[in-house]
Amino acid sequence: MLYLHIPFCHRKCTYCAFYSAVTSGSKQPYVDALCRELELRRAEQPHPLRTVYFGGGTPSLLSLDQLRQLVDTIARCFDLSQLQEVTLEANPEDLTPVFLQGLIGMHFFNRLSIGVQSFFDDDLHLLNRRHSAQQSLQAVQAAAEAGFGNISLDLIYGLPGQTLARWQANLAQLSALPVSHLSAYALTVEEGTILHRQVAQGRLLPADEETVLAHYQALLQWASQAGFEQYEISNFCRPGCRSRHNSRYWDRTPYLGVGAAAHSFSGCCRRWNVADVGQYVAAVGNPPHEEELLTPTDAYNELVMTSLRTVEGIARERVEPPFLDHLSRAIARFVAAGLIQETPTHFRPTPAGLLQADGMAADLMAPPSR
Ligand code: SF4
Repeated sequence: MLYLHIPFCHRKCTYCAFYSAVTSGSKQPYVDALCRELELRRAEQPHPLRTVYFGGGTPSLLSLDQLRQLVDTIARCFDLSQLQEVTLEANPEDLTPVFLQGLIGMHFFNRLSIGVQSFFDDDLHLLNRRHSAQQSLQAVQAAAEAGFGNISLDLIYGLPGQTLARWQANLAQLSALPVSHLSAYALTVEEGTILHRQVAQGRLLPADEETVLAHYQALLQWASQAGFEQYEISNFCRPGCRSRHNSRYWDRTPYLGVGAAAHSFSGCCRRWNVADVGQYVAAVGNPPHEEELLTPTDAYNELVMTSLRTVEGIARERVEPPFLDHLSRAIARFVAAGLIQETPTHFRPTPAGLLQADGMAADLMAPPSR
């Protein structure tokens, strides 16, 4: 499992708290450093790669030549004999027919994750997105025509001023497109974002809890009618089209992450690279980074946090015995409240429980001393 972080954006979306550099400058030094890091750290992924994910930032800001350079380096450094899924995150305005043909021609990428967010221009303007609704429609059609059979869209609900009817219109629009996967997120106001400032200054009023809940319920209703299964709190797909890469994060499969601000996970240790493109490039493949050795308690807490957001829930066999006792005791009140269903193999969140996954996870965590 390999993740490449491409931390460039044309401009900053108002809600975005990710590390990304707003630049129109050359990205070649970064791509060269990325290739060097792949070469230097190849031994950290000795097994055949099953999934590769180009995330950001905006990976579709790289040129076809730069993407080809990365693909060639990956092919040189890793065993690709069992590769199943290779995703490129893209913004609609970058997905021209020429770019899409170039991607298909590499015989490497088989999945696109397109940041559409809304099919209404005034929502896009509010979020400071660069593309129009029309560009999104064209991009999805062009991607399908180019040969991408596995297309995911990102949409955001709970936008300031977004009515339920408008959110439902977004979902209806998605149903009419050749799309197999949806990641739908409730808008959150993160500190340090432009949106946070706008809200603090009283220039925008965030949606209230009731509205967000109504949008979420409309999402569930749409999914069941449109033939999309929910497999994680924010992720929906047509049968057989789950994101393999993201599913492996949730079951805590080790992965190698390269690039500025990229995280890696070895099974017992997390590592994260410096979140600064200048420092990353200057280090030529050996970037400053920090590491954290996970204690058994950390590992248990992470398992609870990620598993409770999935429909499968927490697999008993993955919980170490001392934590299983703690979990069984602490979870009883959520079972009684109908938020968790207990089976011989799993603790599964019910649809109502999924919505409260983060709050329940906080209550189920083990204290640091264990
Ligand atoms: S394109 Fe994505 S990463 Fe870049 S600013 Fe917008 S939300 Fe953030």
